Amino acid sequence: MKPTHIEHLGIAVSSLEQTIPFFEFLTGSKCYSIEEVADQKVKTAFFKVGETKIELLEPTCPESTIAKFIEKNGGRGGVHHVAFNVENVEEALKEAEAAGIQLIDKAPRKGAENLMIGFLHPKSTCGVLMELCEQPK
Ligand code: ZN
Repeated sequence: MKPTHIEHLGIAVSSLEQTIPFFEFLTGSKCYSIEEVADQKVKTAFFKVGETKIELLEPTCPESTIAKFIEKNGGRGGVHHVAFNVENVEEALKEAEAAGIQLIDKAPRKGAENLMIGFLHPKSTCGVLMELCEQPK
């Protein structure tokens, strides 16, 4: 599947408002986008570190998988997923499935920043949730 780079690192936080100043300090850049992704029940905030981004994920309701992730981590957030940039996410998902990797998404769906995304199941990926994403054309 040969990804071109790490597109972003997803970090779960309980409050964007409280964590944005730290990430602006850490990355030396302003948060350039805040976006709600309704079907994932999250609000996201983005920062650039070279070609890679940091995506903060704040749950918008208690049923959000991000809320559950934070709860499991003793109320603290943490690294939630690693996202790889691929040329074609549909093909990459098929390739992964053919290699015996368990998928969360059988077909690509729309994520934040208009990326087409698909998740691989942590059971097949060393316990780390992995996302494949494709830039909008
Ligand atoms: Zn992501």
